[in-house]
Amino acid sequence: MANVGYSDTPELPESNWKVHDGARPQPRVVTPGATAADPPSDAVVLFDGSDLSKWQGRGGDAQWKVENGYMEVVRGTGDIQTRGQFGDIQLHLEFACPAEVKGDSQGRGNSGVFLGGRYEVQVLDGYDNPTYADGTTGAVYGQYPPLVNANRKPGEWQTYEIVFTGPRWDGERLVRPAHITVLFNGVLVQNHAAAHGPTGHRNLANYNNPHPAEGPLRLQDHGDPVRFRNIWIRELRGYDE
Ligand code: MG
Repeated sequence: MANVGYSDTPELPESNWKVHDGARPQPRVVTPGATAADPPSDAVVLFDGSDLSKWQGRGGDAQWKVENGYMEVVRGTGDIQTRGQFGDIQLHLEFACPAEVKGDSQGRGNSGVFLGGRYEVQVLDGYDNPTYADGTTGAVYGQYPPLVNANRKPGEWQTYEIVFTGPRWDGERLVRPAHITVLFNGVLVQNHAAAHGPTGHRNLANYNNPHPAEGPLRLQDHGDPVRFRNIWIRELRGYDE
C-alpha cells in the first residue's frame, strides 16, 4: 500500500504510533444500517420483533408477551435477560410506556435496562411525572439524574442509545469504574457517567465485590406493561484497551 502518512512526526502519548502514522492500521469496515436505528453489519440483534429466543426468564424461557413487533412486560413473570453475555457495548433499544397513564412517581411505566446485568439505566414514564431525580427516565438509577428530561408522551416509542464500558479490576482492586453514556430520543442525558458501583435501592453503591467482565443484558419487570422493540448490541472488545 502507498505510504499515506508520515514517519517523521512526533510519537503520540500512550501509543506506539506517530502523528499521522501511515503504518497505523485502517479502521475495520462496518456497514451502517439504512437508518441510525437499524442494526449495522457487526451488530448482534437481540430482538427483532418476532420472538424471545435470545432471552431467558426466571428458571427458563422468557414469559413476556410478543405481539405486533414488540415485547411487553408480563407483570409478575420477572426480569428477562439475554442468553448471551457481553462486556463493553453499544446498545440500541426502543421502549414505550403504557398509553393509559396509571400511578405516579416510580409507579408509572417503570422498567429498566441493566447493563452487564448490574447497572440500571432507568426506564420510566417520566413525562409530567415528578419522582426523585436519580430515578427518572435515563437516570443511572440511584446515582445520576439525566442531564435533561427528554421524554415523549406516554405510549409513544422512545429510543436509548447507550455506551457502556464495564469496570476494570486488578484482582480485588478497582482500577477504573464502569462508565455509562446515554442518548435518550437523540438527546444526551448521561455523558460518560462514572458509576459508583452496581445498582442498588436505598443504599450507596460500591465496588466492594468484584464481578466478571461480562454479563447479560437484563430488562426489568417492575409490574408495569412497558413495551420494547428493535434491540441490538455491538460488542466493543478491543476498542478501549
Ligand atoms: Mg426500574
